[in-house]
Amino acid sequence: MSALAKNYKRNKLSFKKGKGSYLISTHGEKYLDFVQGIAVNSLGHSNSKLNKAIQEQSKKLWHVSNAFKIPEGEKLAKKLVKRTFANAIIFQNSGAEATETAIKVARRYFFSIGEPKKNRVICIKNSFHGRTIAAIHASGSKKMTEGFGPKLPGFDHFEFGDHKKLKSLINNKTAAIMIETVMGEGGIKVIPNWCIKEIRKLCDKRNILLILDEVQCGIGRSGKFFAFEYAKVQPDIVPIAKGIGGGFPIGAVLMTKKVSKAMTPGTHGSTFGGNPLAMAVGNAVVDQINNKLLNNVNKMSKYFINKLNLLKLKYPKIIKEVRGLGLLIGIQLFYDQTRFIKKLMDNKLLTIRAAENVVRILPPLNVNKKEIDEALKIINKVCKQIK
Ligand SMILES: *Cc1c(COP(=O)(O)O)cnc(C)c1O
Repeated sequence: MSALAKNYKRNKLSFKKGKGSYLISTHGEKYLDFVQGIAVNSLGHSNSKLNKAIQEQSKKLWHVSNAFKIPEGEKLAKKLVKRTFANAIIFQNSGAEATETAIKVARRYFFSIGEPKKNRVICIKNSFHGRTIAAIHASGSKKMTEGFGPKLPGFDHFEFGDHKKLKSLINNKTAAIMIETVMGEGGIKVIPNWCIKEIRKLCDKRNILLILDEVQCGIGRSGKFFAFEYAKVQPDIVPIAKGIGGGFPIGAVLMTKKVSKAMTPGTHGSTFGGNPLAMAVGNAVVDQINNKLLNNVNKMSKYFINKLNLLKLKYPKIIKEVRGLGLLIGIQLFYDQTRFIKKLMDNKLLTIRAAENVVRILPPLNVNKKEIDEALKIINKVCKQIK
């Protein structure tokens, strides 16, 4: 009997070690891991530079309070500012904390300019921003909020694609629109560039802040450092997490100079956020998200998606759509994907579900063609078996 609460539906499978794209189970079996902790291990398992960074830092200093200056964090923040729209960063420990902090920053900004009533946030219905109280109410998902009332006020929702509704929700109390640039849990739904551009324009026109949640699609996963770069827009606030730590829990909120002015001393804090150990790892991750790696993401993505589309033609009754951006890929089936994912696992390929019958595929960003071919072979085999 497990002493853990039953809040997860866990597989029986467990692992003892990993290297790159592969995991070794506790029974010694080798699996191709195209989940990578849900887009967390951006550089695969046991990356040598990350191992070195954590070992060296662990011998020097793990943790000090944010009451003191933390050079490793200053360094990582500078790197993120240099590569992005952002001017200031707050470090956190997870995605939900980062999205909540993004909401806090937006509200505090309007408070600081004398508009405290401008505090509502518009989100996409059934989006995903994490599992804390504010984050579940931001998602507007019945499944996630049920039993966790009272309903938290301050959020308005529109269905993905319902632009009329989005416009109708905007009023003088709207502080921000918060969307995932690519909806991950929601079924790998890529928000089109023109749409992000229009939302940016709408925000400018109505004096609203644009929060783009890049917790899953950010830090190189899309083939660019941030997925919103494809739309050539500048957001105001961007929560990140997952990929930035390469497996170490790190979250962060990136923001413009304008909104950062509202975050004066005492307005926000975190005991663990941005500690030296986490920051040493974060620095070692970001240093490896270079053009060469991004080129690999784009090349492998194109190859993988093309081949998956060929499988879609071969199995038109199983695969409905192949979609995604970079190495955030979804195979949408015509029916519930549970059995399909189980069969892939039986054949030593790990994938994970997303909404709308999607089999989500998240290889490490340094995946190679041979590994993708291996995955394609398994997917083809399972399509053949399940037909
Ligand atoms: C995973 C995720 C979160 C929540 O991150 P946690 O670290 O699990 O709290 C928030 N937003 C998006 C888009 C995510 O994919």
